[in-house]
Amino acid sequence: MENQEPRRRPNVVIVPGPFQGHISPMLDLGTVLHSKGFGVIFAHTVFNAPDPSNHPDFIFLPLPDNLADHQILPGDIIALVTILNKNCEEPLKKGLSEIMNRLETENQVVCIIYDMLMYFCESVAKDLKLCCMIFRPSSASAGLAYLSLSRLQAEGYIPPKGSALDDLVPGLPLLRFKDIPTADMGTLQDAIELTVNICNTRTSSAIICNTVHHLEPEEIVQFQHIYPLQYFPIGPLHILAPTSSSSLLEPDTDCLTWLDNQAPRSVIYVSIGSLAILQKEELAEMAWGLASSNQPFLWVVRSDAVPESEWADLIPEGFLETVGERGCIVKWAPQKDVLEHNAVGGFWSHCGWNSTLESISAGVPMICWPCFSDQKVNSRYLSHVWKVGLELDHKLERGVIKESIRRLMVDNEGEKIRVRANDLKQKMKISVSEGGLSYASLNNLVDFILSF
Ligand code: UDP
Repeated sequence: MENQEPRRRPNVVIVPGPFQGHISPMLDLGTVLHSKGFGVIFAHTVFNAPDPSNHPDFIFLPLPDNLADHQILPGDIIALVTILNKNCEEPLKKGLSEIMNRLETENQVVCIIYDMLMYFCESVAKDLKLCCMIFRPSSASAGLAYLSLSRLQAEGYIPPKGSALDDLVPGLPLLRFKDIPTADMGTLQDAIELTVNICNTRTSSAIICNTVHHLEPEEIVQFQHIYPLQYFPIGPLHILAPTSSSSLLEPDTDCLTWLDNQAPRSVIYVSIGSLAILQKEELAEMAWGLASSNQPFLWVVRSDAVPESEWADLIPEGFLETVGERGCIVKWAPQKDVLEHNAVGGFWSHCGWNSTLESISAGVPMICWPCFSDQKVNSRYLSHVWKVGLELDHKLERGVIKESIRRLMVDNEGEKIRVRANDLKQKMKISVSEGGLSYASLNNLVDFILSF
């Protein structure tokens, strides 16, 4: 038998941010790069660790983060990220050096791809003499909004005065001041400091973005103008890696059976993602709005949806009896499968970027109720640029909720939105197929990594 040369499989290191919406697209990225012939070392914080058994081909490197030594208030994302950047640098350097010592020369590590929140990785890459690239799990439009914070502060526009909240932001004409991702994440100064760190590319050689060219062509050009680095818009990654399993929580798959028994496009799916929290009164308004809409609904109420409350106490008295079989409530859904289900006709969402891409890819029109961070930017694009969503630009109130659901699910207005959503779905498919822009960008990324 002929002696076959062993196939070279260079390794890439992937370091996600420690949240569901950051881990999922990076697991997808790993799956895609693995299918293109790379080995994948997935280095993650112990906090919110993914399940290695879902990705038996990856090497997992847990990074001790010592979070237990710090007092972090619930929802203080800036404090959490700042501490992780301090605590994870040494563990990554040590763990990676050990792995690199074990790897054959031809399979050596070629680069570190790190989530924009995990900027400590750049100095590890420098120490280990590796190339590095930044992964952005959000849109280019949101990136531009964050990049504007320092300028808007210097020009005296932010923090915005109460009366200016509805005014359009100079330089970001689609956004109102209330859409700018600022102090919801802590103090304005903290948000700006974090943004400066996230936006500083240091010695990184490229930016990979989970976005799609046709969704935001001008914003992508503007972004590239600001960052004269290689730029790879390769989204939506969940379509490129359809079998990748990335959920940190166990999804309740019984809801798919419930969906099987509903009429086509009749169900409104409701979820505010993995991080957003509600007041108990807001949750009650959601409940009674859903009840009075008369539409079947699948509602995700996470066990931590309302801090310091027992889940069983969250659902208002009499609600379950009122809605009966018309409603299905779960603590965590298999969202991508739900959105692809024929019975789902609308998504009331907080407009996280992954949810946005998943809904658009499934052709499901949305009710946009953004909570914080980039969600308000995404909501503006969904409702005003792509026109596949209705903006719920109000305090949660049952009457407004009922009306929004009826407009999307029943009225003629909703039918027109559905046609546009279907059109966008087709464009997403084209983008990731041979000849499409994301497809080409992914191949360029592979060539770029192989050139190291
Ligand atoms: N998700 C899920 N089940 C749920 C709710 C959310 O699988 O019940 C997933 C969803 O598919 C998406 C991610 O969690 O991939 C949420 O990310 P997104 O960027 O939309 O929002 P975030 O959680 O970061 O606010």
